[in-house]
Amino acid sequence: MAIVIDPATRADLEERIRFYRDLGLTEFYRRPVDEALLQKLQAAAAAEPVAVAASVATEPAAAPPVAAAPHPLVSSPHNPMYEESAIPPRKPFPAAPEIGVVVPPAERAQALQIIRDEIGDCKRCALHAGRNKLVFADGDPNARLMFVGEGPGADEDMQGLPFVGKAGQLLNNMITAMGLKREQVYIANVVKCRPPQNRTPEPDEAHTCVPFLFRQIDVVRPQVLVALGATAATYLLGQRQPLAGLRGRVHAFRGTQLIVTYHPAFLLRDPRQKKEAWADLQIAMRELGLKLPGK
Ligand code: SF4
Repeated sequence: MAIVIDPATRADLEERIRFYRDLGLTEFYRRPVDEALLQKLQAAAAAEPVAVAASVATEPAAAPPVAAAPHPLVSSPHNPMYEESAIPPRKPFPAAPEIGVVVPPAERAQALQIIRDEIGDCKRCALHAGRNKLVFADGDPNARLMFVGEGPGADEDMQGLPFVGKAGQLLNNMITAMGLKREQVYIANVVKCRPPQNRTPEPDEAHTCVPFLFRQIDVVRPQVLVALGATAATYLLGQRQPLAGLRGRVHAFRGTQLIVTYHPAFLLRDPRQKKEAWADLQIAMRELGLKLPGK
């Protein structure tokens, strides 16, 4: 039986899921509806007032209290009707491709263009159906610092460039605060086509697209790579782990130093976390030998 959710509740649920996702809680499961149980619960709920009224009419006033049987609507681990369904096992991540050969700086722009040409008018995953423009990347092919986000949003999809909306403006401010210009860094995403309603890319979509990102990383070979948000961290590192366990330290990754921080879109929703993000960016600055504020 399809469950109809009103638009306001759906919007609230989507917002909450985005919030959890930004915190690094990327996996959710929905208990499948047991039709037989649902019908039983509905019948019990419908019959309950009648049964109570009947019991009031027929039972003697002095009847001793009887321990109530667990109501099937009570969500309790002690209620056998509410046993958890088995959670499907997680699929292992495919192995990351071998690290590519070092491309001389003068040939990096051309090497990136070869990857772009190979992607072409890509229809390798379902995301192609809803895209306006494929978003390959933006920035300096010889950048020492690279940022990786999750996927294009509405503005990026229209312009064909990563991080050009409100979150992009905040990223630009973050880059400026580091003492750099946007043109000096390289920016790309896990998936190159906008997921519908900005949902998180499905694993098969991310796994299909991310090998191109690995190749871009291998060509640019940044000294420091910053993963923006849980989705980027998950598909770069090939492990599902809450963001809290990945932030605040340097990960060795494909010959670069990988640092994980919050996605700018999350920082727009929860500006209290900007201080934490700034602390992460200062780790990146230290690795790059950039001058830290107040030093
Ligand atoms: S998201 Fe990546 S793999 Fe999917 S269609 Fe777009 S470019 Fe191709």
